[in-house]
Amino acid sequence: MCAWKSELYCTAFNKQQLPPSNRPEIVFVGRSNVGKSTLINALLARKIAKVSSSPGKTRSINFYNVEAEGRLFSLVDIPGYGYAARGHGERQAWWKLIDDYFGSGRNISFVVHLIDFRHGPLPNDCDLTKWLDVKGLLRLVVFTKGDKISPGRRNGLYQQYMRSGIVSVLPPFVTSGVDDQEMEALRRGITEILDELGRMGDI
Ligand code: GDP
Repeated sequence: MCAWKSELYCTAFNKQQLPPSNRPEIVFVGRSNVGKSTLINALLARKIAKVSSSPGKTRSINFYNVEAEGRLFSLVDIPGYGYAARGHGERQAWWKLIDDYFGSGRNISFVVHLIDFRHGPLPNDCDLTKWLDVKGLLRLVVFTKGDKISPGRRNGLYQQYMRSGIVSVLPPFVTSGVDDQEMEALRRGITEILDELGRMGDI
């Protein structure tokens, strides 16, 4: 059962619409169609983010305020990147929005980077990873669509990704849409990181 309480707090299409940064923010990033909305809905145990089978729809940054057993923080849903049908202009607009968000001195705790378990990190995942490294942001890797890989192949694939040098503050999670146990483990992982950052005085 999900003990987190959540509400959509703000939807921002540009810098002017970004809300004041008054809580630690956990930022969810990933390629279009990676399963970010599905994961956010599963994590918050409510249909709050829009799930779409046609990629590249979300253009706004959505802020969800969360209360998790006394902890107050926001989940920040960044539009997906790398949708092939997008033109140069749209990619520029995406980077501008990302730059505006990450460059405005916000209280960012860490980034949850979603990666499709079937494909592993693709070139634009790696571009984003390098960019986040430059910004010095902590990352938690979460693989999505684990259910699309047969149970017998999962462990081998996981080890293969780990050997390829994935950096993650906790061992990456593998998720399969809406699995209660997986979601509970991920909630615990997220609050563990927040608590540790709190002890270190980082938030
Ligand atoms: P977003 O664009 O990253 O927000 O992706 P969505 O959450 O909208 O999901 C894109 C598509 O992938 C939808 O058709 C989802 O039903 C599907 N999907 C998302 N996560 C999973 C998963 O873990 N397993 C499977 N099999 N399908 C998923």
